[in-house]
Amino acid sequence: MPDYGMMIGGARVAAAETFGVYNPSTDEEVGRAPNSSPADLNAAVGAARAAFEDWSKTPDGELRAACEAVTAKIGEHAEELAVLLTKEQGKPLGGLGSRWEIGGAQAWAGYTSNLSLAMKVLQDNNEGRVEMHRNPLGVVGSITPWNFPVMIAVWHILPALRTGNTVVVKPSPYTPLATLRLVELMNEVLPAGVVNAVASDDRLHNIGAAMSSHPDIAKIVFTGSCSTGQKVMMSAAETMKRLTLELGGNDAGIVLPDVDPKAIAEGLFWGSFINNGQTCAAMKRLYVHDDVYDQVCDALVAYARNIPVGDGLDEGSVLGPVNNRLQFDKVSRLVAEARSKGRVLLGGEPGGGLFFPPTIIADLDNADPLVAEEQFGPALPIIRYTDLEEAIAAANDSPNGLGGSVWSKDIDKAKQVARRMQCGSVWINKHGAIQPNAPFGGVKKSGLGVEFGEEGLAEYTDIQVVFS
Ligand code: NAD
Repeated sequence: MPDYGMMIGGARVAAAETFGVYNPSTDEEVGRAPNSSPADLNAAVGAARAAFEDWSKTPDGELRAACEAVTAKIGEHAEELAVLLTKEQGKPLGGLGSRWEIGGAQAWAGYTSNLSLAMKVLQDNNEGRVEMHRNPLGVVGSITPWNFPVMIAVWHILPALRTGNTVVVKPSPYTPLATLRLVELMNEVLPAGVVNAVASDDRLHNIGAAMSSHPDIAKIVFTGSCSTGQKVMMSAAETMKRLTLELGGNDAGIVLPDVDPKAIAEGLFWGSFINNGQTCAAMKRLYVHDDVYDQVCDALVAYARNIPVGDGLDEGSVLGPVNNRLQFDKVSRLVAEARSKGRVLLGGEPGGGLFFPPTIIADLDNADPLVAEEQFGPALPIIRYTDLEEAIAAANDSPNGLGGSVWSKDIDKAKQVARRMQCGSVWINKHGAIQPNAPFGGVKKSGLGVEFGEEGLAEYTDIQVVFS
């Protein structure tokens, strides 16, 4: 099995221990990842701190050029990264799968390379001059999840580099390999120590936890579950780390009575089942008006029943398996509970291995765990409503607030409903679209801070005001 090492100070370094990474489609070992020790983490943070001395003083144009070189590297190795990602994550190569993720990572990297936070002059008159500068923070610790490992690593690393910080990244134990390779590629075009990578299986050592309390890490950018995000926040308090937390969601979609059910079926399906539902901002519960309830259910099921599910490496697969056993068991439990309460329209029974077919269950309500909990898998509960006020209240009745959507032919009315939804992003007649110039983040327990655009970039800096 190929061994993927850590990247520390520009060199590939083997760890004393390694752990196996398995293809969720076949249960075969794909490769071995380093089980970094606390001493390995200290070495990576030390290398990043040493590199920060020069990197933080690099002129803006050179930082841009370095980020553009990183972007080009991703493009040159896109197919290699996509295949590795499919093997460890399970998502198909085509469609909205691995090639799409790597293409997105490249696009985001390119956009971020060309962002810049110029110094602002707040006042310049005979009473004096006031300048606002943005200073890099130091070493940024990036902790990533298993659903979009490469794209999310790029979302963390590029803005950190672009603003003069150095990085230590730690991917999920389920999907470390593509990230380790990505960081190795970045090191071909960056000075030693600017980007470092460690990994851990979270059993022998929990390196994410060690990063969150590490005295020489200035900021943690974390994407993952709410409960782990809360732990990160608590451990970061002692050293007053800067934090960006992109956490879980339980996004609602609200379908108004004026829709054309057949016209919205495809959008509803992909809004919910993209990446097999293992997407932070996927639609996890759908509120449909009584007038169109049966027609929307029928149209959605008619679209969904033709989606091929299979091994991600098979070019015919449109959806792959669930990524890991823990997640599979969670989806299975929530679907089994919902089966006895609601009406199964599609799927509902686990397949072989980690395969779970797209599942749609109607006639549930907010008290059902499949509606109330973030299930993060290929299952969509549908809830009937008659009064729009009740639907809005039910959608907002959640500790999460990542995304939401409104489906209607009347865009003005849909926008009015959208503005009342308690979430960071709201889409009309689609769900889950993101773009690199639009800040993305959650409200309530879905996170802290935003990514993307100038607002996202600013989170990798501290403001310094100079009065003269
Ligand atoms: P997770 O919280 O289990 O793990 C995320 C990362 O944290 C992993 O790298 C893990 O090793 C690490 N970790 C584990 N224990 C830690 C600790 N004590 N301290 C610090 N780090 C620790 O999440 P997951 O299961 O990998 O990912 C799925 C979750 O991520 C879902 O809840 C999903 O909604 C969320 N997510 C959110 C976004 C977003 O942008 N809001 C994007 C993708 C995923």
